[in-house]
Amino acid sequence: MQKLEPITDFVEITPSAEIAATAHGWRAKCLQRLLRLDMPVPRTVALPATTIQAIAAGRSLDCKGVLECFGENPLVSVRPSPQNPEWGGPSTVLNIGMNAARHAVLVKTHGQAAADALYLRFVQGYAVHVARLDPDMFEIAEPSAQALRDALRAYRDEMDEPFPEDPARQLAEVLRSMSRAWAGTSARLLRQSKGAPEEAALGLVVQEMAQGLGQGISGSGVIQFIDPVTGLEQVTGRFLGQAQSSDIAEKREDALYLTRDPRGPSLEELAPELFASLARQGAACRAKLREEMQLEFTINDSHLAVIDAVRVPRSSRAGLRIAVDLANDGIITREEALLRVEPRALSELLHPQVDPRGTRDVIGRGIAASPGAATGRIVFTSAAAQASASRGEPCILVRRETAPEDIRGMHSAVGVLTERGGMTSHAAVIGRGLGLPCVVGASDLSLDVKALVLLSKSGRKLVEGDLITIDGTTGQVLAGEVEMLPPALDDAFRMLLSWADDVRDIGIRANADTPADAQTARNFEAQGIGLCRTEHMFFEEARLVAMREMIFADTPDDRATALARLLPMQRDDFVQLFEIMQGLPVCIRLFDPPLHEFLPHSRDGLRELAEALDRPLSEVTRRAEALTEFNPMLGMRGVRLGIVLPEIYDMQAQAIFEAVVEVARRGGSIVPEIMIPLVSASREVELVKTRIDAVAAKVRTATRAEFDFKLGVMVETPRAALRAGEIAQHAAFLSFGTNDLTQMTYGLSRDDAGRFMNTYVQQGVYPEDPFHILDVDGVGELLLIGAERGRQTRANLTLSICGEHGGNPESIAFCRKAGFDYVSCSSYRVPLARLAAAHLALLDKDRKKTT
Ligand code: PEP
Ligand code: MG
Repeated sequence: MQKLEPITDFVEITPSAEIAATAHGWRAKCLQRLLRLDMPVPRTVALPATTIQAIAAGRSLDCKGVLECFGENPLVSVRPSPQNPEWGGPSTVLNIGMNAARHAVLVKTHGQAAADALYLRFVQGYAVHVARLDPDMFEIAEPSAQALRDALRAYRDEMDEPFPEDPARQLAEVLRSMSRAWAGTSARLLRQSKGAPEEAALGLVVQEMAQGLGQGISGSGVIQFIDPVTGLEQVTGRFLGQAQSSDIAEKREDALYLTRDPRGPSLEELAPELFASLARQGAACRAKLREEMQLEFTINDSHLAVIDAVRVPRSSRAGLRIAVDLANDGIITREEALLRVEPRALSELLHPQVDPRGTRDVIGRGIAASPGAATGRIVFTSAAAQASASRGEPCILVRRETAPEDIRGMHSAVGVLTERGGMTSHAAVIGRGLGLPCVVGASDLSLDVKALVLLSKSGRKLVEGDLITIDGTTGQVLAGEVEMLPPALDDAFRMLLSWADDVRDIGIRANADTPADAQTARNFEAQGIGLCRTEHMFFEEARLVAMREMIFADTPDDRATALARLLPMQRDDFVQLFEIMQGLPVCIRLFDPPLHEFLPHSRDGLRELAEALDRPLSEVTRRAEALTEFNPMLGMRGVRLGIVLPEIYDMQAQAIFEAVVEVARRGGSIVPEIMIPLVSASREVELVKTRIDAVAAKVRTATRAEFDFKLGVMVETPRAALRAGEIAQHAAFLSFGTNDLTQMTYGLSRDDAGRFMNTYVQQGVYPEDPFHILDVDGVGELLLIGAERGRQTRANLTLSICGEHGGNPESIAFCRKAGFDYVSCSSYRVPLARLAAAHLALLDKDRKKTT
């Protein structure tokens, strides 16, 4: 077989060389940019990805030719240069070219100890990363001449040949090993998990070693000009005298601070000019690379070399602050700043977060249902949560799953953990609405309800009162207390979102059920309330009693009497909501859940109820049983209740209209939107509309006040979507309730789906949990049909989505494209939605420009 010539495709990086990030990788491109900024970068050669692929396939490179670029007897390093820095790459290898002859020279120029340390470090790195020998055999306690001899002997014994002396061979072996490491399965999986495409390729850079050892001020350091956690301006980093770049990661007692520091000596004091020059380099980098960079540098006998620059690794919070500051300094545009912040990263800023620098004692995992972290003592019942809150003790409510009657317990807890459930289970929806960190479906934890014990997979037992932390951002459950970072609703956050509002072209409202929720919605600058689930107003103690009386009423008159007790409370709720929202639209959904949710489930509860109603326990039990349905979610709920027991909706409409009149009397103004849930036939809407119009007329007469309102329909059944054309005859707006619509389209209970969703997603039956990410193919088609048919009937029909999907960037994209007017999501997701909508508008603008 003909022997192939060695490859010669490599290029020295100079300001004018042809270097492209796509071919040579980001590091090569970045080093060229530094050179163009006149930075003292050591000589560097870039090897393109095609060369590295050929090496991995067995071809050889003209390594002699590469080394000749560096003059006589150079020492070089090799660093990875993939297209995107996030994709990682094999470890850097330093001091290639070190051998006995070079060692002898260095003994003379740098002294025995430094020469030994250098050579030893190379032998060790080469043995472990290139020859893949056991790292334990090359563990070095203290560099010394003996340790060097031992390492060289160990290499010879293991490899049956002496340590390679020829620098070209050393380089060839290093390149071969790095190129193969990149092609290996584990590296491939790792980078793919960070978003790298299947064909992601590796470039490498070979750089002349800047020693950091020897006479005068010499050493290595890293410097960055912002705090990586807050993003605020601050010099951070360290400098080690007489050290190479690989030493910087080590914790050494003799490390210097960079700026003046009362705790010890600093580089700024030791070498003010060098420090000032570094600061200048940093500022130039920021201005010209338009990014906060971390510089890796060496000082060799008072000469500075910048050997590398990487984007400062940063928290989400710092990322946002950096983008806003760069835009305010005119370095990037506001539009660029917006696009640099990932919308999902925002939710991290709205809640305390587990400090990423701390250690985590993970005892279980579940679905990250509501972001943020919270630490508290375990409680297993809502009553215990309330008791704990009244003692001022933060608690985590741990339940198998939560039900509406747990709402007060949830309000009292700082976090919720459930063994069952998925993204739209009760705990998840309410948790997100309240901004309460929540982990659901933690199926590797098992809850023994009788013994009140929470058991981890590894057998750890937790009882009531034990301290745990839940991380609703990652889904982890941690034992004990951990360091937290506080939320950051700072000026930078608000500024970025105001820029987002300037460019976005779809409305963002919030789902808010109570005055407190409405206040949160205002704080996050939602443009109104898109869904107020009124039933949540009925779970307070006093209201629950009246509610139960209403349920147990024998006649319409009795029912009306019980409802009359609820009326003023509802009216007050609405007055508060309207006042908080200050004229912004408020969409109120009429009563939706099945009635049995309001009844006690335990025998004791039923007895208490019998006492309160002054009725025999047997009768109360019988009535409660009679209300039980086989499939309550598909039973007597929503508009069906409104038609069978119309007094409920009458009362709610009256409360809404009287609240409108009251707010007007106080100088405010509001046009309420009333929404009918779970519609499946247009006749349902007609019937409800007739009664609501009658109530409006009655309130107008009684108050002698004029007011407007809009009546609309919540599209939650496939039939409502299909018949939207007919329904729109009676509705001013349609709002798609994609929680129920997903449930009904799939025929899949939203409360039980968690049990098998993982298996389904893992096996690719569903690409994602459809309760989490809108199923654009199926449910999405119903949305499009509903929208189109609705608008055919009524061109100015307002369209929106108010299911949990409303806050997802993918759903926002879908709704925007379909011409929806707004999306409505939990208040805590409003900022994310505002930014995601801005991204969509900007990306669309870019696309239009390029086509
Ligand atoms: C829905 O079904 O999408 C919805 C918003 O209503 P709920 O979650 O209250 O059923
Ligand atoms: Mg619903």
